[in-house]
Amino acid sequence: MPVVSMPELLQPAFEQHYGVGAFNIVDDVTMHAVLAAAAEARSPVIVQVSVKTVKMWGAKLIQLMFAEMARQVPTPTTLHLDHCPDRKVIAECLEAGWNSVLFDGSKLSYDEVLRQTKEVVALARKYGAAVEGEVEAVKGVEDGVGGDYSTPIIPLDEAVAFIRETGIDSFAAGIGTAHGLYEGEPIINFARVSEIVSAQPTPLVLHGGTGLSEDVFRELIARGEAKVNISTQLKITMADSYRNYLNARPTEYDPLKLLGAVGKDVQRMVADFLHIFGSEGKA
Ligand SMILES: [Zn+2]
Repeated sequence: MPVVSMPELLQPAFEQHYGVGAFNIVDDVTMHAVLAAAAEARSPVIVQVSVKTVKMWGAKLIQLMFAEMARQVPTPTTLHLDHCPDRKVIAECLEAGWNSVLFDGSKLSYDEVLRQTKEVVALARKYGAAVEGEVEAVKGVEDGVGGDYSTPIIPLDEAVAFIRETGIDSFAAGIGTAHGLYEGEPIINFARVSEIVSAQPTPLVLHGGTGLSEDVFRELIARGEAKVNISTQLKITMADSYRNYLNARPTEYDPLKLLGAVGKDVQRMVADFLHIFGSEGKA
């Protein structure tokens, strides 16, 4: 299956009320695990990458690896850059052939994020790429981006104007979710999802997915959160897998067995989420 554009993945999900999982991979093993889980579940999936990971491996290497791995699976996928406040990194990824970027302007004023998002959309269109927009900060740090705060939500008319005027393909609305692990029960603003979607039918993006209950996922997806981000859980599953495998086998030195075990654990974790998001059999 060829690599497809972000709207080709999100539009049917938005219309049919299922969620497309976007998993923040960190290397070849995790990228492969995400695609293998999607292939097995006949599910569309988004391979998502944090800026920190781009800085580690380079935008072109990640894109080349993605293109080759995606070619080997029968299900559609796309390559997306997560929270990026840095316009240079966005330009680098687009030039390297990435399919979609999130311009994170949550530290800027409304007028400034509007102006810059329009520029990012114009640049992305030259490459046939998509843009996710964000005005309000999601609480918590995601791979070095963000902080221990969320910014107040903007009025509905401003959110709608932002989506329309910038021409973004999806919108990361502030709804009370947070990056990292939740300390208490998060207070989710379900109504805001419905309000935005009924005023402006653009797929919304759920950030801070790790730690939400199945019911919360299903409700938010039903209301219009068509892209569902999972980052923290992948890191936990991966690190625990290494730790458990090596602790259980103190004298084993076969790296391929180790990587295989880690890949299998991550694949299982991804498969569980694809099931919750209702995207199984949709590709
Ligand atoms: Zn996020």
